[in-house]
Amino acid sequence: MRKSYMRIPYTDVLAAPTIIPKSAAALSGAVAALHEFLAAPLSSSSSEAGPSTALLTGAGISVASGLADYRGTNGTYRVNKTYRPVYYHEFLHNHEARKRYWARSFIGWNTLHKAKPNATHFAIKQLNDLGLVRSVITQNVDSFHSQAHPNLPIVELHGYLRSCVCTSCHEELPRDDFQNELARLNPAWAAFLQEILASGALDTENPDERRAKGMKTNPDGDVDLPGAPYTLFRYPACPRCLTNPPPAGDGTRATVVVDSDGAWNPTSTAGILKPAVVMFGESIRPSVKIAAETMINDADRLLVLGTSLATYSAWRLAKQAKDQKKPIAIVNIGGVRGEDTFFVDLDPDQTGHQGARVEISTDELLPALVDRLKLSSTAHPAHEASDYILEARGASVFKDMLS
Ligand SMILES: [Zn+2]
Repeated sequence: MRKSYMRIPYTDVLAAPTIIPKSAAALSGAVAALHEFLAAPLSSSSSEAGPSTALLTGAGISVASGLADYRGTNGTYRVNKTYRPVYYHEFLHNHEARKRYWARSFIGWNTLHKAKPNATHFAIKQLNDLGLVRSVITQNVDSFHSQAHPNLPIVELHGYLRSCVCTSCHEELPRDDFQNELARLNPAWAAFLQEILASGALDTENPDERRAKGMKTNPDGDVDLPGAPYTLFRYPACPRCLTNPPPAGDGTRATVVVDSDGAWNPTSTAGILKPAVVMFGESIRPSVKIAAETMINDADRLLVLGTSLATYSAWRLAKQAKDQKKPIAIVNIGGVRGEDTFFVDLDPDQTGHQGARVEISTDELLPALVDRLKLSSTAHPAHEASDYILEARGASVFKDMLS
């Protein structure tokens, strides 16, 4: 029997979008169209508070925070042709794959850690303050939504990097603590990390630029660290499983073995920690799936931001909204998977209330939209301009930690 390989969906360039309405090609026209989309009354609105919009966001909205997206012009799949994510089954069953993953993750963590939410995330907070947006479904694992608008309900469809989770007992622990443990268990890597952070090589995802700054990588894009190969990288065991080994299923207890420093030993049968993200080949938890579907059910409209919907779990949520005949607007640079189906039955003369397709970066568009909405709304107090924090940052290597 032939072994089937999982493929990353839609890494080729998707067809360019048709802008809807045509006037939305310019910023002012796009603001007008989305204003109408968000604020137009709906006869079918289920809520006394007026129509509400659910957001579905992706990597495109974090580009302004310095994190590379996947399929954009400078996306991971374009810039780094050798990029290959770790697969769930591989991570779960292969000690060597985990060493490589955690070594890469160890190097990449600082970049994500210092990155901050951008103007898009803070504009979303304001859309919530204005009563227009009441839920966010995100594919992003960077936690920027919860940092920028902690009071707005969020479903993190693909998990989050801020925690590790035990594959045996499901205990979560902060990624920061885990990072400190990796540094303690791998002093040569910790010293190397300080060195390359100082060199600026981690400010770019481009392998050539990294090399120019003195960071040696092998053809797979992996760090080439003489004297400290991946095979020697160590990672800790789940502290809970270590003190209280979980049941093995046959009435006995699993064994969790560590070396004298506390590093997980491959004779163990439990206690493997993984990032709390949904890896390729891993299923989204049913509770998360249901929470996302409920947000779509409860919303009157769907606004899609910064995603090509290439991932089926995200695309099907947009399809769900479409099947429920809810207006959809999409703001994304570049094409979106099967996007014509979302707009096929729009009145050609409509100006935004039935749907919109915009190709302008969200960190430019959303703050302008919020300003426009505030002008037309006297019922809500003005907000601090300081909510808009734009931080220019270099590209990042945080995709090394992903999926
Ligand atoms: Zn555990």
